[in-house]
Amino acid sequence: MQKTHHINSLIDRFGRHVNYLRVSVTDRCDFRCQYCMAEDMTFLPRAQVLTLEEIHFICQAFVELGVQKIRVTGGEPLVRKGVLGLLGELGCLSKLNELVLTTNGSKLGQMAANIKSAGVKRVNISLDTLDKEKFKILTRTGNLETVLQSIDAAVRAGFERVKINAVVLKNRNHTEVTDLVQFAVDKGIDISFIEEMPLGVISSHDRADVFYPSHLIRQDLAAQFTLTQVQDKTGGPSVYYQVEGANTRVGFISPHSANFCSQCNRVRLTAEGRLLLCLGNEHSVDLKQVVRAFPGDMNKLKQVIIDAMQIKPEKHEFNLQEQPIILRHMNSTGG
Ligand code: SAM
Ligand code: SF4
Repeated sequence: MQKTHHINSLIDRFGRHVNYLRVSVTDRCDFRCQYCMAEDMTFLPRAQVLTLEEIHFICQAFVELGVQKIRVTGGEPLVRKGVLGLLGELGCLSKLNELVLTTNGSKLGQMAANIKSAGVKRVNISLDTLDKEKFKILTRTGNLETVLQSIDAAVRAGFERVKINAVVLKNRNHTEVTDLVQFAVDKGIDISFIEEMPLGVISSHDRADVFYPSHLIRQDLAAQFTLTQVQDKTGGPSVYYQVEGANTRVGFISPHSANFCSQCNRVRLTAEGRLLLCLGNEHSVDLKQVVRAFPGDMNKLKQVIIDAMQIKPEKHEFNLQEQPIILRHMNSTGG
């Protein structure tokens, strides 16, 4: 059931209303996906990471300011100790409409039912390939079978929707897009294809070489599926299509081939408490410093968040031809 709507105080210089917060609860992860991390990542020292209480306090401020949707992500959110308790507390924020989660599926199998009980409405699970060997290569440490079992556990747990996220890379997994959609159709779940974004320096490939644009994916899918564009845009970057004859939607997140910034409704909280106003820019405000300098001062925190809207940039500046200007990796960003 939808909870009542309320006033949104978070409006930026371009008139965009921010009603969606993505929260990275840890920069750590048990996978090392090639497009996301370097093989030898160093992670933040514990003292620099927000405590669960601080995360809850900041989320509460955002919800009181009008945020209606929170996505818990990472890093891998389910490796953070105590994350279930945090999810339960966020699920109790009375003005929050939607609590959702993005996970790599390594630990979801055992946790799915509890996550559902905590109040999480929908889950996104990352799955780039159905080939066991390729999965190992792309994630460096992941196990395909475990993730497939997690997807089944999520379906059984009865979330409103389960969605697969697949980052598509030319000559790595691009030939699998049809199989991945068929997999989603068979399970009655959704799938989104994501163009790789140049976040952080990685060693495994040149991002420009592996770029595979969304329109080519759509062309590949047309050979097997009839896709009809769905009109209800939710302010997000995805464009959705319904698969004819199936309970599956296919989404496309195309930061390169279709700029989506004019509709942007979101900000991100990094694991170390930086409020990022845009995925593709460094504009940020240090909220950890505020909650540690003024513990328990909700009004102070809210004012800092309201003021931060003034530096939300108009659009991202991704360029595949140049070295990344954004040095942070996706795991510390809260993808
Ligand atoms: N660990 C969780 C997972 O993998 O689902 C949550 C965090 S992960 C950073 C969130 C999403 O970002 C995943 O679907 C992942 O595939 C995607 N991602 C990571 N690095 C990316 C990049 N450079 N470009 C585009 N998407 C990326
Ligand atoms: Fe971990 Fe997710 Fe990044 Fe893969 S995409 S390394 S699972 S945080």
